[in-house]
Amino acid sequence: MIRITHYREKCIGCYYCVDIAPTRWEIDEVDGKSLLIEASNKKGIYIAKVPDFEYDENIQAANACPVGIIKVEKI
Ligand code: SF4
Repeated sequence: MIRITHYREKCIGCYYCVDIAPTRWEIDEVDGKSLLIEASNKKGIYIAKVPDFEYDENIQAANACPVGIIKVEKI
């Protein structure tokens, strides 16, 4: 299993994450930022625990994020 953390406050809405890993990220039409699908929100930090097979896509998303606010860890 892997844990994805999204420090959403600093998201600039470029949607690289949505393009790279569309099964896990979507556009939030309300505020224009990306949304980590099925994440829990703890004071603006979104965390999702997802299956191992999503690792590669989400590491690519983390590496592409221009503001470095996506963290992906194996747990
Ligand atoms: S790549 Fe980073 S800045 Fe861009 S939408 Fe995703 S989380 Fe936000």
